[in-house]
Amino acid sequence: MTTEQQRTTLSPATIAVAAGRPAHAQGAPVNPPVVLTSTYVSTGVPGPEMLYARYNTETWLPLEEAVGRLEQAELPALVFSSGMAAIDAVLRLAAPGTAIVAPRHAYLATLTAAHELAGREGGAVREVDIADTDAVAAALAPAGEPRASVLWIESPTNPMLEVADVPAVAAAARAAGVLTVVDNTFATPLGQRPLSQGADVVVHSVTKYLAGHSDVVLGAAVTSDPELRARLHARRTTGGAIAGPWEAWLALRGLRTLALRVERSQASALELATRLAGHPLVAEVQHPGLPTHPQHARAAETMDGFGSIITLRPRGGAEAADALTRAVRVWVPATSLGGVESSLERRRRLPAEAATVPEDLLRLSVGIEDVEDLWTDLDQALHASVPAS
Ligand SMILES: *Cc1c(COP(=O)(O)O)cnc(C)c1O
Repeated sequence: MTTEQQRTTLSPATIAVAAGRPAHAQGAPVNPPVVLTSTYVSTGVPGPEMLYARYNTETWLPLEEAVGRLEQAELPALVFSSGMAAIDAVLRLAAPGTAIVAPRHAYLATLTAAHELAGREGGAVREVDIADTDAVAAALAPAGEPRASVLWIESPTNPMLEVADVPAVAAAARAAGVLTVVDNTFATPLGQRPLSQGADVVVHSVTKYLAGHSDVVLGAAVTSDPELRARLHARRTTGGAIAGPWEAWLALRGLRTLALRVERSQASALELATRLAGHPLVAEVQHPGLPTHPQHARAAETMDGFGSIITLRPRGGAEAADALTRAVRVWVPATSLGGVESSLERRRRLPAEAATVPEDLLRLSVGIEDVEDLWTDLDQALHASVPAS
């Protein structure tokens, strides 16, 4: 097991590779085994040992250890069957009859789940511009409305890439007795460690960067608070949204290369965003790493790197954007993000996407291919889809 000293001195790139491995004993495997069992030998009053695989099972533990340590948590993460399963469990930490304050551009299913949950319990969801620190603080305890019990943060948001001042809004929430949750899927624990910035809980769609290969759907929740973790564990056990052993194993395998993938895709994203900003067939490009991004300075201060998502509005509107998704050869037209393969999508093709997201906005998830191949493909697709006037 890890010593306290290792815990504080190893860099994230090392933790991603080293965490959750079997002890270095002669003849031990270097990788943890996949244990396929639904139940465990047991008699009498059960102790802390394994009992039944919906409660706990060995194959989750190395991944939970690795994700917990990457987020600088005092406790291992909890893995769930999907990002949404983790989010659903964490949203239930909201007290009945209270408000959940959430970004208006949060992940769509998160907003749906929050509205459903709050609606059933006589509470409310207050949607805010998460980049507007004063507006967030004001939404925590507005006069004459239900008090908030959870502040939900996504930063950067999906797909508008608004960047929150996580330390500032988490401090405001703490002062108001409100729990802060950060969906850290976009930034990854390499780009942002919200628990060290005052958040109480971090959630991940492990499906995206952590697993990184678009071959598994999985989620995780992380906290340093034993009571919160016990409540989330109880919810997982009762709700039954548990990870399969193969999925947990695949995600850990993918996680080993997280640092390499994130470094490459972030560098390529910044390069592509910079070139796109000067492209004659591009009307608008956003990326937190561009000096023109409204929260560029904040992102530079509170994040390590700027992530690998770019938004692009081609000249020629939604039609041109759709044509571009048909014209690309290397980029994969698909929803989702965070895989080794670069992908893109016009978000408003989804009927449920927020009306404040422009019709012609493409979300680009930059992968790890050669950046010149990505650029050449985007450039030819722009020319193929936007009639030059
Ligand atoms: C994909 C995603 C989710 C949902 O995760 P699933 O693994 O698809 O259930 C939640 N939040 C963000 C930011 C996401 O990108």
